Amino acid sequence: MIPAKAYAALDAKSPLQPFSFERRDLRADDVQIRIHYCGVCHSDIHQARNEWGGSMYPMVPGHEIIGEVVGVGSAVTQFKVGEKVGVGVMVDSCCNCKSCNKDMEQYCEEGMTGTYNALERDGVTIAQGGYSSQIVVKERFVLHLSDKLDPAAAAPLLCAGITTYSPLRFAGVKAGQKVAVVGLGGLGHMGVKFAVSFGADVTVISTSPKKEADAKRLGAHHFLLSTDKDAMKKHAGHFDVILDTVSANHDYTDMLDLLDLEGKLLIVGLPSEEPSLSPFSLITKRRSIIGSMIGGIKETQEMLDYCAEKNIVSEIELIPVNYINDAYERMIRSDVKYRFVLDMSTL
Ligand code: NAP
Ligand code: ZN
Repeated sequence: MIPAKAYAALDAKSPLQPFSFERRDLRADDVQIRIHYCGVCHSDIHQARNEWGGSMYPMVPGHEIIGEVVGVGSAVTQFKVGEKVGVGVMVDSCCNCKSCNKDMEQYCEEGMTGTYNALERDGVTIAQGGYSSQIVVKERFVLHLSDKLDPAAAAPLLCAGITTYSPLRFAGVKAGQKVAVVGLGGLGHMGVKFAVSFGADVTVISTSPKKEADAKRLGAHHFLLSTDKDAMKKHAGHFDVILDTVSANHDYTDMLDLLDLEGKLLIVGLPSEEPSLSPFSLITKRRSIIGSMIGGIKETQEMLDYCAEKNIVSEIELIPVNYINDAYERMIRSDVKYRFVLDMSTL
């Protein structure tokens, strides 16, 4: 077994704390990675605090992992020791169902294996994530990272990046379309960057007036304060696509009303309560709601290569690992610009 140091949640209520455990020895198709950076996603908070139910402890969160290959199994062909790589939100799937065969392992019919807070496919081992010194991952679920990208700022691409890139691509966002991104946090600011890069006319819809200048600096063309009821009314029927990244409970009807004929509301944010929603707001303009979960490995690689070509990375605050509990509190207050990334050399 391979010893690993980490930060873990031991239950839903206690702060994360230093933790030691062991990674499995390499199987033939495994890659061993020394972790350099790990982004902090709001899903880490939801799960560490059991906000979705069913959390497994001890839990080492973290699914925006960048590191360096330090070992490969005998059958590994795509990765070499010394290479920079990434690992995202999943580390395994059945690799054999309709979804997996269409490169959509995230929608595996047997259920994908999450990077943490999930049982590995043996049904007993709890998978542990990236707030740790090392990880061992099946080759199919490891991504290549271009040397052109700053590795710390690229870490959030592994979740925040692909989770916004995939639905915007699926919705066919292109030049001339009016696109809104709701919530300027980790996912939201990546959604803005991608929508702008696809040529759309982009609006940030936010509860935080002080984020307007940043929204524009990130490339957004307009800013709409969701608490300003008059401004919201003026934008009724305005947008072709709205990407909703909000982590807290809110009303989806308010967003639907902003959509034009056949507009699409893309849901990626995962509040814990079931949303309220008016069917009238759906039928009156043949609007639709589309949910989307991360992206498949092939699309994630495509996104990383796109980012290297267009020089797209996340805006980050690089923090020592022992700042993690403060970082969680600041994220809950929407006080992060715009993604915390753990510097694992401080572990
Ligand atoms: P984050 O950085 O904390 O950003 C969330 C943003 O939501 C905040 O910056 C804030 O933006 C807005 N917000 C917060 N509380 C709000 C409230 N009460 N009402 C309205 N808006 C509020 O979180 P994140 O890491 O981007 O994650 C966002 C959500 O996506 C989480 O629920 C996460 O679990 C989920 N997620 C889903 C997937 C997927 O595959 N679908 C993948 C990763 C994460 P403003 O200040 O601009 O209002
Ligand atoms: Zn995430």
